[in-house]
Amino acid sequence: MRKLQEELEKRLGCSIGNADDRQLYRVLLEITQEEAARREVPDTGRKLYYVSAEFLIGKLLGNNLINLGMYKDVKELLEQNGKSLAEIEELENEPSLGNGGLGRLAACFLDSIATLGLNGDGVGLNYHFGLFHQDLKNHIQNVSPDRWITGTSWEVDRRKGYDIQMAGKTYRSHLYDIYVTGYEGRTNRLHLFDLDTVDDSIVRDGIDFDKKAIDKNLTLFLYPDDSDDDGRKLRVYQEYFLSANAAHLLIDEAKAKGADLAQLDKYAVAQINDTHPTMLIPELIRQLTLEGLSFDTAADVVSKICAYTNHTILAEALEKWPLAYLKEIVPQLVPIIEILDDRARRRTDDLSTAIIDSGDTVHMAHIDLHYGFSVNGVARIHTRILKETELANFSRLYPDKFNNKTNGITFRRWLMECNPRLSALLDEKLGTAWHKDAQELEKLLAFSEDADVLERLLQIKKQNKEDLAAIILDKEGVQLQTDGIFDIQVKRLHEYKRQQMNALYIIHKYLEIKAGKKPARPLNFIFGAKAAPAYIIAQDIIHLLLLLQTIIDNDPDVNPYMRLVFVTNYNVTYAEKLIPAGEVSEQISLASKEASGTSNMKFMANGAITLGTGDGANVEIRQLVGDDNLYNFGIDADTVIAHYEKADYRARDYYEKDPVIREAVDFITGPQTMAIGDPQRLSRLKNDMINKDWFMALIDLKDYISVKDQCFADYEDRSAWAKKSLVNTAKSGAFSSDRTIRQYNEEIWKLG
Ligand SMILES: *Cc1c(COP(=O)(O)O)cnc(C)c1O
Repeated sequence: MRKLQEELEKRLGCSIGNADDRQLYRVLLEITQEEAARREVPDTGRKLYYVSAEFLIGKLLGNNLINLGMYKDVKELLEQNGKSLAEIEELENEPSLGNGGLGRLAACFLDSIATLGLNGDGVGLNYHFGLFHQDLKNHIQNVSPDRWITGTSWEVDRRKGYDIQMAGKTYRSHLYDIYVTGYEGRTNRLHLFDLDTVDDSIVRDGIDFDKKAIDKNLTLFLYPDDSDDDGRKLRVYQEYFLSANAAHLLIDEAKAKGADLAQLDKYAVAQINDTHPTMLIPELIRQLTLEGLSFDTAADVVSKICAYTNHTILAEALEKWPLAYLKEIVPQLVPIIEILDDRARRRTDDLSTAIIDSGDTVHMAHIDLHYGFSVNGVARIHTRILKETELANFSRLYPDKFNNKTNGITFRRWLMECNPRLSALLDEKLGTAWHKDAQELEKLLAFSEDADVLERLLQIKKQNKEDLAAIILDKEGVQLQTDGIFDIQVKRLHEYKRQQMNALYIIHKYLEIKAGKKPARPLNFIFGAKAAPAYIIAQDIIHLLLLLQTIIDNDPDVNPYMRLVFVTNYNVTYAEKLIPAGEVSEQISLASKEASGTSNMKFMANGAITLGTGDGANVEIRQLVGDDNLYNFGIDADTVIAHYEKADYRARDYYEKDPVIREAVDFITGPQTMAIGDPQRLSRLKNDMINKDWFMALIDLKDYISVKDQCFADYEDRSAWAKKSLVNTAKSGAFSSDRTIRQYNEEIWKLG
């Protein structure tokens, strides 16, 4: 501690007490970087490249200090000198280089790879603006650019790059690295490629910019709006830029290890995270042939290097590009893709597996499925659906390629860092082994009848709720009721996740309270979500939720019994405040549609009880904790799939037959909402729910209402609830990303 103090003060040029938070942040970043660098390990043997368009890493200071074992000392030293580490951490900008679960998963994986001591780096793009910043005025979502690279940054300039050819021009990439620290482990790197000519000043009106000026916009934004041709082409540019740089880096590093490129698989394995980096496959083949390998040898070795993770069965996410785009932007890949298509066609007469279809559309996932050596889903039910339904044609062709890797989360960020109170209790009762082996949490079950432990769990949750309530009051101006239930749904806004169904429940409760039926204690409904700017119905759902917030707030009959808050700009930093305070975890996607989910795991670890459908990892949570400790409702995945196959679901039938449903849906365009809301948005939403409801909110609404009511009623037995909470934390170790990564390594990567 003395040494740390001397070190800090030497760098500050003054005493800690006299430094301001910005100076302290800069100096802490410096010493953290140096400590991280010391833990790097020379690159020998086989190395993993986790290639992903998204890495939703969140703030790094606190996480790195924890992983490097410095957190406690730094925090105490600062406190002794009248400073607060939490306030210093506030100064960091969150790098939001991802949209949601897929990007956050990549970040948790990097943490676990380094913690387990594996040789593996991430490869992505250095977006100048990550996911847009959201604010909520006049009951709608407004978006603006979120600049995260300002002044002091975690990025290390590697002063190197590669020449990348696109549409007849050469673009010189520029590599920046971010250290990835393992918990008591080694340090790896996240490689982010950028382009020096990118010009932040072309952004105007929110997040609009000239989509044709590739030299100025290439790495400006994460996933630019792809609702028009220029936006879609920009995405192809980004994907090739990512893939080509990854291929160069991989080959470069293998050559530095003296690799015989014909045996490149001895030096490298690449995990292709969703279809965005798919061009890695033809690009590696192209670069290897330039290095002197024959096409056959190159194609052969690339097939031993590349593995693919599928993240969704939603058709719109399985990317397809017109061949014409590829001819324009990456003509060098087209002959390779044509040969790959030709060879794939010779393996089967099943035309549905073609890479280039009869309409000259290129199916990116099909490249991965034919030429990757492994295909994995991200939860057991998701992998089953891939094998039996969505990708049945491919699983007949390649039964051995398919495998499951149920997602996970890092318990360092999602329990140790975000919930210090619960962590301290766990350390006290179980010791600290759970930090690196989350299965150790199961030992908590021994305390399930211990009245003192149960009482402390309730106390901790209460304190976390009060902390969150203070933040929400400050940021959103809404006063939550901390003696009431905290029911939270935070995740991207999408119809399949069914925030609209939760809204209908809230309307139903509102009407019940108006009619004199009061809940046993106040209900706090908390939402957080961003919606893609081009996704109209998602904007309409946000609009409805914000109107409900105002209506409830202004209604003295109702607001003693219920509150609704839609928090602004949901991101990793906000998630770290929300999740420790969660009591009911809303995981209500239409069964079969949520591949896994990971917020369900974060809430579970922090002692919330899942209210969910039989979808994604909810199924595995249910198996672990049993029906006493989770609230399951709704039709199952097979029933949903059968409805889609027969096209026999008619939302209108449910609306017309059931007065409870009709009353809630009608409220959307009732006088109270219409008086303050946008009639066009509200009518469109109501119409969609009655005439389309593609994600079947109405089919499950009645069951949802009754199971949720039961859940809230059970909450009243406080010690029984505390026990449920304990069981959830105790069983959550199965969802450590350390477990997931061990499985990837044992079954796919096989690193030394
Ligand atoms: C964990 C996480 C997600 C994923 O949430 P799901 O509910 O699993 O979709 C999305 N965004 C952020 C900021 C997260 O931390």
